[in-house]
Amino acid sequence: MNETNLSLKYLIDQLHKEQTLTKEEWITLIEGRTPELSEYLFSMAREERHRYYGHDVYVRGLIEFTNYCKNDCLYCGIRKSNGNTHRYRLSEADILKCCKEGYELGFRTFVLQGGEDGYWTDDRLVALVAAIRRHFPDCAITLSIGERSRASYQRLFDAGADRYLLRHETATKAHYGRLHPPELSFERRMRCLADLKAIGYQVGCGFMVGSPWQTPADIARDLAFIRRFEPEMVGIGPFIPHRDTPLGAFPAGTVEMTCKLLAIIRLLLPDALLPATTALATLDPRGCEKGMLAGANVVMPNLSPPDAREKYALYEGKASAAGETADALSDLQKRMENIGYRVTIARGDHRSFPDGEAALTRKKGEHDPCTT
Ligand code: SAM
Repeated sequence: MNETNLSLKYLIDQLHKEQTLTKEEWITLIEGRTPELSEYLFSMAREERHRYYGHDVYVRGLIEFTNYCKNDCLYCGIRKSNGNTHRYRLSEADILKCCKEGYELGFRTFVLQGGEDGYWTDDRLVALVAAIRRHFPDCAITLSIGERSRASYQRLFDAGADRYLLRHETATKAHYGRLHPPELSFERRMRCLADLKAIGYQVGCGFMVGSPWQTPADIARDLAFIRRFEPEMVGIGPFIPHRDTPLGAFPAGTVEMTCKLLAIIRLLLPDALLPATTALATLDPRGCEKGMLAGANVVMPNLSPPDAREKYALYEGKASAAGETADALSDLQKRMENIGYRVTIARGDHRSFPDGEAALTRKKGEHDPCTT
């Protein structure tokens, strides 16, 4: 083994042992080309994954229920200024129908994701969450609907939501400022994450891999933030350009870097729930398998009606990842079996929230890991 590889191997071992590195070490590991070492990195990541979650793959039924959005994130295909987007919004009845179909197939988590749509007021969302909770008492409800007030997050939690996905997008304030319009603030995003955690949600943060202007130092800050924040879930996927956005001419992130970071995050937070994202599957037909083999343990098949799925175009060529039919699910089951994993019918909570119960008893407002 040459000297560079020896020092990268040392860093991987160090990360495995200590679950952290210094900023300089993070940068060396991120910049280092590790083709010879990737199998070593991935096998350690799998070892940790197996220790906490065995060979189970948790599935989450994704319901993309609105593509109206009041925000203008520079990278996102459903930004408000994109006049080419065909806007749609599912009704409460449509959403319950998606849940019912998903439930019959074996889904025990529903992820409601959408743009920041003013139609969906607290009252409407609370009624929706309460209806899902009533009809599907044994399921987890995950929300991914952006930035809201603490009071709003609290009402949704009290109505029965268990988890919340809100990617921090980047832990570097200046980088955040380049990816977002001036009315969106880094501090507010971080504040929202702290509020969600303090309320007792299982929280997911995350970022795009290879987003415009992202440097290894930015990624090092993302990893340090993740270590400090200790989310229950981390969603990372490659940036993929959308031609109708200001960042449409930037290159996409890579599958290689995304898998490397998945494995690093598995070593950093060994018991995190880590999805192999749709964006990864969009760049590579075997992206889901590659993500799993790098330490991921969650997949989020799409339960939205097909025409909605097409219109929820965050980036171009989005893989359809259909999950609403028995065929699609059995195809996923086979693909996972082929790489030694099995799709499990379970809520798939983080292990510190057995059956979601701890969510209700968790101490609130204990610390604020978002402030630096
Ligand atoms: N509005 C909610 C929010 O802000 O969290 C949820 C919807 S938002 C579209 C979900 C995620 O999609 C974002 O956090 C972002 O990381 C990702 N995303 C948006 N545009 C993308 C692109 N061009 N490539 C890859 N991921 C993208």
